[in-house]
Amino acid sequence: MTREARRQVWLGAGCFALMLCAMLIALQALTELRAQHRQLARGQALADRALGLQQQLTAFALHPLDLPSGSTPEALKQSAAAIALDDPAIGAAERRRLDAAIDAVAAARGRLTATVPGGEVKMLMRLPLDEAGQALRELVRAQTEALQRQNDAAGEFSAFARHLLIGAALLTVVLGLLLAVLGWRSMRTNRQMMGELDQLAHEDGLTGVLNRRALDERLPVEIARAERVGHALSAVMIDIDHFKRFNDRRGHGAGDELLRGAAQAWRRQLRPTDLLARYGGEEFTLVLSACDADQALQLIERLRPLVPEHQTFSAGVATRLAQEDAAELLRRADAALLQAKRGGRNRSVVAGVEAQMALPLRIA
Ligand code: GH3
Ligand code: MG
Ligand code: MG
Repeated sequence: MTREARRQVWLGAGCFALMLCAMLIALQALTELRAQHRQLARGQALADRALGLQQQLTAFALHPLDLPSGSTPEALKQSAAAIALDDPAIGAAERRRLDAAIDAVAAARGRLTATVPGGEVKMLMRLPLDEAGQALRELVRAQTEALQRQNDAAGEFSAFARHLLIGAALLTVVLGLLLAVLGWRSMRTNRQMMGELDQLAHEDGLTGVLNRRALDERLPVEIARAERVGHALSAVMIDIDHFKRFNDRRGHGAGDELLRGAAQAWRRQLRPTDLLARYGGEEFTLVLSACDADQALQLIERLRPLVPEHQTFSAGVATRLAQEDAAELLRRADAALLQAKRGGRNRSVVAGVEAQMALPLRIA
């Protein structure tokens, strides 16, 4: 794995871990929010129960005769206990004080009020009832404060979670951008490498012209184009004469240099639409579009003096016949080349035409 790819994997893993953390925090914040809502409902219930208990107490103290059934000190104490939160320790002292106040109200019951003529109930002594009211208020305050504390803690966590989530989101964006830049860079490198590989796959390493594979790929394309447009297409097989002898005398390094020099010089003479490929060894193939046999011969004569070291070559020319495919066209050009060799080398032969005039033979 390359360094770039390793970096991308780390960044991707970082993004994933961040998003996972953010999700967990969001879940926790949601739980806290739900707890806050529950506490709000409990606060509401607490207030309702406290109010109910207050009314029960007042009724118990002031109307001793016509009380609803179940209005006993025990029932009032149970109502007070129902105000308790989950934690019985919260407001325990206040509840004890309230229980004592309820007992005091029960003990003083009947002496607290008197019915004056006309049926009106008159308060004689407020103290036990006031004490019970005070104890109830203290109990409610203790419970409310506890609820408030829980609520504050949940609120603090929510604020903390919000900051954490914003931080995680920003970091994820930065990491994502980095990942995108790295991805784009590796895509560009890959594209460059693909281009270089493609070039290597289609270029002859020694001479820099097309190789056999490229010729095999592009000749059928040229044939299809010539057929569509309706113009002539000629293939030329070129073979350096007595190249073995040249190698033997001058060495393979000089032979390589000659092949490179000839190919590069020929390439400069060709039109952009022409193809020059190294067919193999010291053999080259030319594919000339919009070019008949005569034009091909003229071009070949222009190429002859460009071979370094006054080396000569023989050439076989074939102009494509109707319906002819790439293999058959090359086969006919090769046969013409063989004829040129047999005819004495340093000459061109057009397939299907008598051997061309011989040129003076030059050897290394
Ligand atoms: P002919 O005129 O009949 O073509 O004779 P020739 O010697 O050119 O042909 P032959 O097939 O006998 O020999 C071809 C020589 O080309 C043999 C080989 O060493 C040489 N050759 C092939 N490829 C390369 C190459 O890449 N570099 C060099 N320096 N020589 C090569
Ligand atoms: Mg040869
Ligand atoms: Mg040869």
